[in-house]
Amino acid sequence: MLRVGLTGGIGSGKSSVSGLLAERGAVVVDADRIAREVVEPGTPGLAQIEQRFGATVLAPDGTLDRPALGAIVFADPAARRDLEAITHPLIGIRTRGLIEQAGPDALVVHDQPLLVEMGLAPMNHLTVVVGASERTRVQRVVRDRGMTEQDARARIEAQAGDVARHVVADAWIDNDGTPDELADRVAALWDERLAPFEDNLRADRPVLR
Ligand code: ATP
Repeated sequence: MLRVGLTGGIGSGKSSVSGLLAERGAVVVDADRIAREVVEPGTPGLAQIEQRFGATVLAPDGTLDRPALGAIVFADPAARRDLEAITHPLIGIRTRGLIEQAGPDALVVHDQPLLVEMGLAPMNHLTVVVGASERTRVQRVVRDRGMTEQDARARIEAQAGDVARHVVADAWIDNDGTPDELADRVAALWDERLAPFEDNLRADRPVLR
């Protein structure tokens, strides 16, 4: 197994990079997706959240009302810690389960926007950071996600900065250019940094365990 941690700021292009790596056979473990799955209706996660915060954090269809919960935890650090005490262990268990399920020969890419904030770089054999200027990232999320410019800048402010990501990066992919340029950079990363490991995995030789 080779574990690659993939991170970058909002709108930098992490999903685009993980998609390109998946096309080459990597198993992608998506942290944002897991965070949503552990609080889906019917899960112990959502039941615990309802028990702690009350039914006001549920939408009429029984799903988590994220804006309502967000408003509570944004205003109250103790509430935020309580929420994290519920979700973080569930996210950890599911993440480890998915990584194990990928099998010993897999090249696993853990797409984790908060890799730096959560100190997860040592969990990976290789940390890859996707970077793009703040201007480019704001433009992308306003254009493609319907986010307001103000919201996009507030999200960027709340995340670690690229300087902190540089510190943990074993490889840096610049994504200020076109999608074709990104694809070329991912191909180069694969050929230079990942394919050598993949050859070992295929030949059933131990890589890094
Ligand atoms: P988030 O942290 O918000 O999940 P992300 O880092 O996963 O974002 P993506 O979803 O890959 O970023 O990219 C953000 C948006 O920008 C997407 O709509 C994507 O299609 C687009 N995008 C990514 N790379 C480029 C590029 N080089 N040129 C133009 N658009 C791009």
